Amino acid sequence: MESRQLLYTGLKEKGFNLTDEQIYSLMEYMNLVLEENKKFNLTAIEEENEFINKHFIDSILMYDNSQEEMLVADMGTGGGFPGIPLKIVHPNWKMTFIDSTEKKLKFIEAACKKLGIENVEFVHSRAEDVGRADEHREKYDLVFSRAVASMNVLSEYCLPLTRLGGKFIASKGPKYQEELEDAKKAIEVLGGKVDNITEIMMPYEDIVRYLVICKKIKKTPLKYPRRQGVPSKKPL
Ligand code: SAM
Repeated sequence: MESRQLLYTGLKEKGFNLTDEQIYSLMEYMNLVLEENKKFNLTAIEEENEFINKHFIDSILMYDNSQEEMLVADMGTGGGFPGIPLKIVHPNWKMTFIDSTEKKLKFIEAACKKLGIENVEFVHSRAEDVGRADEHREKYDLVFSRAVASMNVLSEYCLPLTRLGGKFIASKGPKYQEELEDAKKAIEVLGGKVDNITEIMMPYEDIVRYLVICKKIKKTPLKYPRRQGVPSKKPL
C-alpha cells in the first residue's frame, strides 16, 4: 500500500478521519525528518511504511480524537514524537516540546515554521529543571512521553509539570507491569494516581502498546523534581 494510504486507512480504522491537509503535513514532516537524518540522527527508522506505523500512528493513538483546547507538553520529544503527530491531529492544542538536546528542538522548530504549525513552544531544558520553573510547573492539562525513561524516573520528569486534575500519559511496551510496580511509590509521592491502562492494538502489526495514564490528584511536593541526574541515579 502507498504510504499516504497506509496512514489514512490505519487511522480511519481507529476512528480518526484525517483531512488531506493533515495527511499532507504529516507526509511533509516525514520527508523533513528523513532528510535531516542523513546529517544528524533523529530516528533509526528510515523505511517510510515503518515510519508511518511506528512514529505517526503510534503517536496519534496516544490520545482520542477529541478537539478540546488544551495545554500539552511532550517530554523528551527527540525527533518530535509523539508531539508533532499529536499537534497536527489536534490543532487546538498548545504544544510545548521539551528536550535536553538543543539540535533536535531547533530542527522541530524549523519544521513547524515550514509547515505553518502554530501555537507551539520549544523548551531546551532537562526535565529536572523545567519541572521547577514557575511558567511550566503544574501548568499542563496533558503531559505525554514516549521512549524516555522507565516509569519511576519518568514520573519525576512528568508529574511536576502536570496540573491538578490533568494527566500524564506514557507509552510503554509489554513490560509495563514491572515498571509500574517499581514506580508505585514515585507516582504516589509525586501526587499522581494510576487512572487507567489502555491497551492499543497497532494496525498492520502484531504489536500491543500500553498507555499508562496517571491522573494528578495532589500537588507535587516542592522538593521534586530533584536536581539533574538524581531521578535516574536514585529513582524514588
Ligand atoms: N520521544 C521520542 C520518541 O519516542 O521517538 C524520542 C525518544 S529518545 C530515545 C529520548 C529523548 O529524551 C532524547 O531526545 C533525549 O535528549 C531526551 N531526554 C532524556 N532525558 C531527558 C531529560 N532528563 N530531560 C529532557 N530530555 C531528556
